[in-house]
Amino acid sequence: MSAPQVKGWCPGAFRPMMSGDGLVVRVRPPLGAISAAQATGLADLAEQHGSGVVETTARANLQLRGVAEAAYPALMQDLRALGLLGDADSEARRNLVLDPFHARGTEEIARRLLEGLSKAEFSGLPGKFGFVIDPGTPRRLAGISGDIRIEGAAGGMILRADGAATGRRLRNSEEAVSQALDLARWFLTSGGVGADGRGRMARHLADGADLPDALAGDVEPSPSAPEPQPGPQDVGLCAAAAFGQFTASALRALSGAGGPIRVTPYRMLYLPDVMIQPDHPDLILDPQDPLRRVQACTGMPGCPQANVTTRDLARRIAPRIPDGQQWHVSGCAKGCAYPRVADLTLVGRDGAFDLVKQGTPWDDPIRRGLSPLEIDEQVRP
Ligand code: SF4
Repeated sequence: MSAPQVKGWCPGAFRPMMSGDGLVVRVRPPLGAISAAQATGLADLAEQHGSGVVETTARANLQLRGVAEAAYPALMQDLRALGLLGDADSEARRNLVLDPFHARGTEEIARRLLEGLSKAEFSGLPGKFGFVIDPGTPRRLAGISGDIRIEGAAGGMILRADGAATGRRLRNSEEAVSQALDLARWFLTSGGVGADGRGRMARHLADGADLPDALAGDVEPSPSAPEPQPGPQDVGLCAAAAFGQFTASALRALSGAGGPIRVTPYRMLYLPDVMIQPDHPDLILDPQDPLRRVQACTGMPGCPQANVTTRDLARRIAPRIPDGQQWHVSGCAKGCAYPRVADLTLVGRDGAFDLVKQGTPWDDPIRRGLSPLEIDEQVRP
């Protein structure tokens, strides 16, 4: 099997990744949101310098793709003018996902955590080491990867190291920030980072590291909320697009509705101040839309690690997917588009697909080497 290339870092604006169709330039929205003006600006930049779409990622970031190397310096200048770039060092550490449906206090925790993480003592944290701020009940981000987690629990918030079943109760936001930073310090000083600069909290604990009493606890996190769907919410609106790719004109339609736009890790955008649904053919606002039942990564030819095309197959099989199920077509076992358990996952390998039921792309398949034609014929609900 052609193993996916595992990099110890995520691409960012300062560290773009060369893909099959040009550079991928990822923007980490400050505090998980952009303004309507920034959204319009990004739409313009996607058309001017990239492929004309703005992609949402599984870690609530935005990315432009198809950027020519010659256009990269001008794009960076334009992103800076839009207020979407920090400095290279702090941007690399801005690996934080916050509940997009959050109350205002969540933003304050994120802001102060980012301030703390900008200190030099945290420069050794691995590129993929991330924070999740999910203090509501039920939790919205239970399925989202993150090494240090501030989560909702009965009666308040807890701090939980990923890999530990329970966490330590927190009295308030100040304590949430200081304890999260203490946990990051402990990770660094207790040998969580390997000689190659990589390391994850769950692996560190599984390898036998003992959390100090001051950072451990016996409080269970609150239950997990169902994954949100596109359309009107209690307050505001969730908008999706096929495979999380928002065309420039669709993004402009959303920004025209006004207010901030929060980026979710569900490949949707959430507009907390909008109740009127923008009318645009590229926007998915109906939870029953068949394209909501399938996730697919870039695949060939855009991703150099892929040896199958993905989105054409995903579009074909989407109408056959039973309501309530989530399927995933992944160009390789890395599973960028949906790095979690799906009802059915098709994983590209040597030009064909392996089939995983109730698992992730890196789990053992129940069938191997299916051609797209065989999938069309045999893969039935
Ligand atoms: S999952 Fe898809 S996008 Fe990610 S590396 Fe594999 S082929 Fe590329």
